Amino acid sequence: MSVSSINPATEETIETFEPHSPVDVDAALSRAEGRYEDWRLTSFEHRARLMQKAADVLESHVDDWGPSMSLEMGKPLSQAQGELKKCAWVCRHYAENASKYLEDQTIKTDASKAFVRHLPIGPVLAVMPWNFPYWQVFRFAAPALMAGNVGLLKHASNVWRCALNIEDVFRQAGFPEGCFQTLLIGSDQVEKVVRDRRVRAATLTGSGPAGASVASIAGDEIKPTVLELGGTDAFIVMPSADIEAAVETAIDARTQNNGQSCIAAKRFFVHADVYDDFREKFVEGMKALKVGDPLEDGTNIGPLAMKDIRDDLASQVEKSIKAGARPLFEQKDLPDTGWWYGPQILEEAPDNAPAAHEEMFGPVASLWKVSSLTDAIRRANDSPFGLGSSICTTERAEMDQAIRDLEAGSTFVNSKVASDPRLPFGGVKTSGYGRELAEDGIRAFINRKTVSIA
Ligand code: NAP
Repeated sequence: MSVSSINPATEETIETFEPHSPVDVDAALSRAEGRYEDWRLTSFEHRARLMQKAADVLESHVDDWGPSMSLEMGKPLSQAQGELKKCAWVCRHYAENASKYLEDQTIKTDASKAFVRHLPIGPVLAVMPWNFPYWQVFRFAAPALMAGNVGLLKHASNVWRCALNIEDVFRQAGFPEGCFQTLLIGSDQVEKVVRDRRVRAATLTGSGPAGASVASIAGDEIKPTVLELGGTDAFIVMPSADIEAAVETAIDARTQNNGQSCIAAKRFFVHADVYDDFREKFVEGMKALKVGDPLEDGTNIGPLAMKDIRDDLASQVEKSIKAGARPLFEQKDLPDTGWWYGPQILEEAPDNAPAAHEEMFGPVASLWKVSSLTDAIRRANDSPFGLGSSICTTERAEMDQAIRDLEAGSTFVNSKVASDPRLPFGGVKTSGYGRELAEDGIRAFINRKTVSIA
């Protein structure tokens, strides 16, 4: 059955694709296996030259692929263009640093020489989400290819134009056929690919159930996985913080990417001494955001990417209000056509409300007043997730306590959580395991071979 990309702002079909058949997938896996045998023998210099070209290709397409990304999944155009540039950055980062990250590690033993050598492992499957349709893929692909592995992409079914453009980046950059291939398949075809003997590992960025499924199948096959899953990141504001700056960061952190980001701050814990001031400015700022056409200049929030995402968010908000959460303002009227959802803040959601314990994938913030940092951290940790976390404070002791006690893969002080090619990225608890980016990312799918020469 054909698969369509639908513009979430208008509900119009943009483009329709024919999925790959089992025969096509089998041929792609054979190409990947064959290509790996010579790609793994290429030098870092050769791979780096091609990866720099991939960055050039991405930069040359900012003005056409930016709008096509916005049309396919709804993010504001400036953010789509920023995402393409960030992908070029991660390509350049690994082109410049891969050989250093994967240098032999000498170890002193009784042997005349002992060391660890970092060798590739083969074709790796990446199952990816639609919310950062280029960035999520490039932060896997750039280190994987620089390490000497080859990549197979199963992208989310609503962003297949992006998926095909990504394959094209590597083709245009001169990577040989089979180094990076897009498989146009549904999620029901993933198990067969993970189990295929030609596929050596898998990485998934997406929801918990999808991650659990892929990891358990890979576990059954004894294949390594990295999981980057959901989050309900806490954002803590203490009395010493610059409240205006904290509010500005809070709004950006909650509403980036139309609120559909794993590392969006979702639960805000504000100290009683500055609560009223923060609340007033937060409400003012969230109300002022412009919701509208993602291609138009000045739009802060576009439509949510799919009808299900919008309907699930509306239902979570409704249930939270029924459970006792207070909405802090009337939401604007939005068009009936398109999958719109305006910004909102829910105050004091009780523990049983979805706003307190589920991931809300849209521009809805949950706000609580706390009596101390210990209280804020206790509540922040009362979540199945542990992806990122932020604290706004100028007190050294408070920073140290937050860094030590917040159960999260990262703590950002006086800024929002953001991924950066130079910093490892990943979560704890049900937000996943393993790390992407930086040195950790390129070592995710590596054979750390021990060598001892008597
Ligand atoms: P999703 O429904 O889990 O989909 C992600 C990918 O997994 C898609 O390619 C999807 O394919 C596939 N998939 C879904 N169910 C599967 C299954 N049972 N077996 C194999 N593959 C399956 O997630 P999403 O709605 O696209 O993305 C939103 C979620 O991703 C949020 O929870 C968000 O927090 C998380 N996320 C995490 C990070 C991170 O770095 N931690 C980054 C971005 C997003 P189909 O589209 O064909 O169903």
